[in-house]
Amino acid sequence: MVREEIYTADEALEILLEGNQRFMHCELNHKDHCGEARELHAERQQPLAIILTCADSRVPPLDIFDLGLGDLFVLRVAGGLINDQMLGSIEYAVTHLQSRLVMVMGHSSCGAITAVASGSRLGGHIATLIPPIDAALKVARKVETGNFLDNASKALARAISEKIAQSEPIIHDLVEEGTVKVIPTFYNLSTGAVQLI
Ligand SMILES: [Zn+2]
Repeated sequence: MVREEIYTADEALEILLEGNQRFMHCELNHKDHCGEARELHAERQQPLAIILTCADSRVPPLDIFDLGLGDLFVLRVAGGLINDQMLGSIEYAVTHLQSRLVMVMGHSSCGAITAVASGSRLGGHIATLIPPIDAALKVARKVETGNFLDNASKALARAISEKIAQSEPIIHDLVEEGTVKVIPTFYNLSTGAVQLI
Protein backbone atom coordinates (compact mmCIF):
# COMPACT_ATOMS: atom_id res chain seq x y z
CA MET A 1 0.00 0.00 0.00
CA VAL A 2 1.11 3.57 -0.61
CA ARG A 3 0.59 5.54 2.57
CA GLU A 4 0.76 9.19 3.46
CA GLU A 5 0.71 8.86 7.24
CA ILE A 6 3.59 7.52 9.30
CA TYR A 7 2.62 4.47 11.33
CA THR A 8 3.89 4.05 14.88
CA ALA A 9 5.83 0.88 15.72
CA ASP A 10 2.78 -0.53 17.54
CA GLU A 11 0.43 0.22 14.64
CA ALA A 12 2.86 -1.37 12.19
CA LEU A 13 3.21 -4.45 14.41
CA GLU A 14 -0.57 -4.84 14.54
CA ILE A 15 -0.80 -4.75 10.73
CA LEU A 16 2.00 -7.32 10.43
CA LEU A 17 0.43 -9.68 12.95
CA GLU A 18 -2.98 -9.40 11.24
CA GLY A 19 -1.30 -10.33 7.95
CA ASN A 20 0.41 -13.25 9.67
CA GLN A 21 -2.98 -14.52 10.83
CA ARG A 22 -4.18 -14.51 7.20
CA PHE A 23 -0.99 -16.34 6.16
CA MET A 24 -1.45 -18.95 8.90
CA HIS A 25 -4.99 -19.65 7.77
CA CYS A 26 -4.23 -19.51 4.03
CA GLU A 27 -6.52 -16.53 3.57
CA LEU A 28 -4.03 -14.28 1.81
CA ASN A 29 -5.10 -10.96 0.32
CA HIS A 30 -1.93 -10.88 -1.77
CA LYS A 31 -2.63 -7.26 -2.48
CA ASP A 32 -0.23 -4.83 -4.10
CA HIS A 33 2.10 -7.32 -5.71
CA CYS A 34 2.05 -5.94 -9.24
CA GLY A 35 0.08 -3.87 -11.75
CA GLU A 36 -1.08 -0.55 -10.35
CA ALA A 37 0.93 -1.01 -7.14
CA ARG A 38 4.17 -1.22 -9.09
CA GLU A 39 3.44 2.08 -10.79
CA LEU A 40 2.42 3.74 -7.50
CA HIS A 41 5.61 2.70 -5.77
CA ALA A 42 7.97 3.58 -8.57
CA GLU A 43 8.58 7.08 -7.23
CA ARG A 44 8.95 6.55 -3.51
CA GLN A 45 8.72 4.16 -0.57
CA GLN A 46 7.61 4.41 3.04
CA PRO A 47 7.78 0.84 4.37
CA LEU A 48 5.72 -0.14 7.39
CA ALA A 49 8.55 -2.07 8.98
CA ILE A 50 12.14 -3.21 8.69
CA ILE A 51 12.60 -6.98 8.88
CA LEU A 52 15.94 -8.63 9.53
CA THR A 53 15.76 -12.37 9.06
CA CYS A 54 17.43 -15.49 7.69
CA ALA A 55 18.10 -16.06 3.98
CA ASP A 56 16.27 -19.42 4.29
CA SER A 57 14.02 -19.94 1.26
CA ARG A 58 11.14 -20.92 3.55
CA VAL A 59 11.09 -17.57 5.35
CA PRO A 60 9.67 -15.00 2.89
CA PRO A 61 8.59 -11.93 4.91
CA LEU A 62 6.17 -10.46 2.33
CA ASP A 63 4.21 -13.72 2.27
CA ILE A 64 4.43 -14.39 6.02
CA PHE A 65 2.83 -10.99 6.72
CA ASP A 66 0.62 -10.98 3.61
CA LEU A 67 1.93 -7.63 2.46
CA GLY A 68 2.92 -6.17 -0.89
CA LEU A 69 5.25 -3.87 -2.77
CA GLY A 70 6.63 -1.05 -0.66
CA ASP A 71 5.45 -2.52 2.66
CA LEU A 72 8.61 -4.08 4.09
CA PHE A 73 12.28 -3.07 4.09
CA VAL A 74 13.87 -6.53 4.24
CA LEU A 75 17.41 -7.52 5.19
CA ARG A 76 18.30 -11.19 4.89
CA VAL A 77 21.42 -13.22 5.52
CA ALA A 78 21.98 -16.79 6.75
CA GLY A 79 21.13 -16.93 10.46
CA GLY A 80 19.60 -13.44 10.35
CA LEU A 81 22.86 -11.92 11.55
CA ILE A 82 23.86 -8.26 11.66
CA ASN A 83 26.88 -6.40 10.33
CA ASP A 84 27.77 -2.74 9.87
CA GLN A 85 26.28 -2.55 6.39
CA MET A 86 23.01 -3.91 7.71
CA LEU A 87 23.04 -1.49 10.64
CA GLY A 88 23.62 1.30 8.14
CA SER A 89 20.67 0.06 6.09
CA ILE A 90 18.43 0.06 9.18
CA GLU A 91 19.63 3.56 10.09
CA TYR A 92 18.74 4.69 6.58
CA ALA A 93 15.25 3.20 6.78
CA VAL A 94 14.41 4.73 10.17
CA THR A 95 15.74 8.17 9.29
CA HIS A 96 14.89 8.52 5.58
CA LEU A 97 11.95 6.17 5.06
CA GLN A 98 10.13 6.81 8.38
CA SER A 99 9.93 3.13 9.35
CA ARG A 100 9.35 2.86 13.10
CA LEU A 101 9.34 -0.89 13.65
CA VAL A 102 12.44 -3.07 13.39
CA MET A 103 11.64 -6.78 13.63
CA VAL A 104 14.39 -9.37 14.04
CA MET A 105 12.88 -12.73 13.10
CA GLY A 106 14.49 -16.05 13.92
CA HIS A 107 12.92 -19.29 12.73
CA SER A 108 12.60 -23.01 13.45
CA SER A 109 14.88 -25.54 11.73
CA CYS A 110 17.46 -22.88 10.90
CA GLY A 111 20.21 -24.56 8.85
CA ALA A 112 22.88 -22.09 9.96
CA ILE A 113 22.17 -22.72 13.64
CA THR A 114 21.92 -26.47 13.11
CA ALA A 115 25.27 -26.55 11.28
CA VAL A 116 27.10 -24.60 13.98
CA ALA A 117 25.45 -26.64 16.75
CA SER A 118 26.50 -29.91 15.12
CA GLY A 119 30.12 -28.80 15.11
CA SER A 120 30.42 -29.39 11.36
CA ARG A 121 33.57 -28.04 9.80
CA LEU A 122 32.54 -24.78 8.16
CA GLY A 123 35.18 -23.43 5.80
CA GLY A 124 35.55 -20.29 3.71
CA HIS A 125 33.35 -17.34 4.54
CA ILE A 126 30.75 -19.66 6.09
CA ALA A 127 32.97 -19.59 9.17
CA THR A 128 32.09 -15.91 9.69
CA LEU A 129 28.59 -17.05 10.72
CA ILE A 130 29.91 -19.04 13.69
CA PRO A 131 30.70 -16.56 16.54
CA PRO A 132 27.24 -14.94 16.99
CA ILE A 133 25.50 -18.30 16.58
CA ASP A 134 27.90 -19.93 19.04
CA ALA A 135 27.04 -17.26 21.61
CA ALA A 136 23.31 -17.97 21.14
CA LEU A 137 23.91 -21.71 21.51
CA LYS A 138 25.63 -21.04 24.84
CA VAL A 139 22.55 -19.13 26.06
CA ALA A 140 20.24 -21.92 24.84
CA ARG A 141 22.23 -24.57 26.74
CA LYS A 142 21.08 -22.96 29.98
CA VAL A 143 17.40 -23.17 29.02
CA GLU A 144 15.81 -26.33 30.37
CA THR A 145 12.51 -26.29 28.48
CA GLY A 146 11.60 -26.35 24.80
CA ASN A 147 13.56 -27.28 21.70
CA PHE A 148 17.29 -26.53 21.99
CA LEU A 149 17.76 -25.23 18.43
CA ASP A 150 14.59 -23.13 18.58
CA ASN A 151 15.79 -21.69 21.88
CA ALA A 152 19.10 -20.83 20.23
CA SER A 153 17.26 -19.11 17.37
CA LYS A 154 15.25 -17.09 19.89
CA ALA A 155 18.38 -16.21 21.86
CA LEU A 156 20.06 -15.07 18.65
CA ALA A 157 17.08 -12.87 17.66
CA ARG A 158 17.10 -11.32 21.14
CA ALA A 159 20.85 -10.66 21.06
CA ILE A 160 20.68 -9.10 17.61
CA SER A 161 17.67 -6.97 18.62
CA GLU A 162 19.64 -5.68 21.58
CA LYS A 163 22.64 -4.93 19.41
CA ILE A 164 20.47 -2.96 16.99
CA ALA A 165 18.63 -1.09 19.77
CA GLN A 166 21.94 -0.13 21.39
CA SER A 167 23.58 0.95 18.17
CA GLU A 168 24.98 4.46 18.64
CA PRO A 169 24.07 7.10 17.83
CA ILE A 170 21.09 6.96 15.47
CA ILE A 171 19.04 3.91 16.44
CA HIS A 172 19.83 4.06 20.15
CA ASP A 173 18.57 7.64 20.35
CA LEU A 174 15.35 6.88 18.45
CA VAL A 175 14.70 3.84 20.68
CA GLU A 176 15.38 5.88 23.83
CA GLU A 177 12.91 8.59 22.81
CA GLY A 178 10.33 5.90 21.99
CA THR A 179 10.11 6.62 18.26
CA VAL A 180 11.55 3.28 17.13
CA LYS A 181 10.95 -0.20 18.56
CA VAL A 182 13.18 -3.21 17.94
CA ILE A 183 11.31 -6.47 18.45
CA PRO A 184 12.63 -10.05 18.40
CA THR A 185 10.26 -12.66 16.99
CA PHE A 186 10.30 -16.34 16.08
CA TYR A 187 8.74 -17.85 12.97
CA ASN A 188 7.50 -21.44 13.06
CA LEU A 189 7.98 -23.07 9.65
CA SER A 190 5.24 -25.65 10.27
CA THR A 191 2.43 -23.48 11.60
CA GLY A 192 3.34 -20.23 9.82
CA ALA A 193 2.98 -18.38 13.12
CA VAL A 194 5.18 -15.44 14.09
CA GLN A 195 5.58 -15.30 17.86
CA LEU A 196 6.78 -12.28 19.85
CA ILE A 197 9.63 -13.38 22.11
ZN1 LIG B 1 17.86 -19.90 9.03
